[in-house]
Amino acid sequence: MGGVIVECNPVFRLYVRSYTSRLRFFIGLSDYNFLEMDSARITTGGKYECLLFDMDDTLYPMSSGLNLACRKNIQDYMLERLHIEESEVPKMCLDLYKEYGTTMAGLKALGYEFDNDEFHAYVHGTLPYDNLKPDPVLRNLLLSMPQPKIIFTNADQAHAMQVLNRLGLEDCFEGIICFETLNPPKQADPTESIPLSNDSDSTENGCFCPKSPILCKPFVEAMKAAIRIANVDPKKTIFLDDSAPNIASGKAAGLNTVIVGRSDLVPGADHALGSIHNIKEALPEIWDVEGDQQQVIQSPAVATMVLA
Ligand SMILES: [Mg+2]
Repeated sequence: MGGVIVECNPVFRLYVRSYTSRLRFFIGLSDYNFLEMDSARITTGGKYECLLFDMDDTLYPMSSGLNLACRKNIQDYMLERLHIEESEVPKMCLDLYKEYGTTMAGLKALGYEFDNDEFHAYVHGTLPYDNLKPDPVLRNLLLSMPQPKIIFTNADQAHAMQVLNRLGLEDCFEGIICFETLNPPKQADPTESIPLSNDSDSTENGCFCPKSPILCKPFVEAMKAAIRIANVDPKKTIFLDDSAPNIASGKAAGLNTVIVGRSDLVPGADHALGSIHNIKEALPEIWDVEGDQQQVIQSPAVATMVLA
């Protein structure tokens, strides 16, 4: 294969000389094929080599109203499309979310059959995306980080792209691991080796819970799949998420963890950030690099990254 020219942010470009190995991303596409992008694992000489970011309620505050609107849409879907008894919907929605990471994964575990795309279109189609505004402060923070940054979200690709575009962050990440990445349709099956979530039926809390065919956070299998897909060393990777269960399983998978949206630590969290905007004060070591790498930063030589 010929060389692939990858445009990237200026600071990232200047680290090109310190690349040591390939990093492969799989991004779910709307046609359910998978695009394999060439990139590379970066070696900054610092403590961390990659950052995995949750998206919703991590890159923007929960006060935006998307979370609440999404929950209402899911409940409407359960009522109108799955014909679940109205009085049972709110508790069932919350219980499944807590048990399976997403209500969708829980509904599938219980045997409800519906189209994944239709579900996502229904619950995301009317979200108040206008509430999300470009965030130049966060954009500058992300672009100044020397490490590759990857989105790891349970949401589908369409929602991820909509959110990143609204926040003005669409070019701040080297990859997206989303619903379609971990849950390709059977016929595509490019990630056959990825295990299903909740592989053995759970008996936690004394209740029997059927396994879900959906792979998603907070299952440790999903964390391990993301680590494998991104081809990162979890010990040198920071995982940021607003969900305490996700942080706990991220830690179980060996990642460095940051709970976002609250100032107190949760089990498994190494750091707590009231806002993602506070990341430089809380984790200045992200920007720490060794002396020889600093010299690379000062070099004006590299304009684009070309991978043979
Ligand atoms: Mg979140």
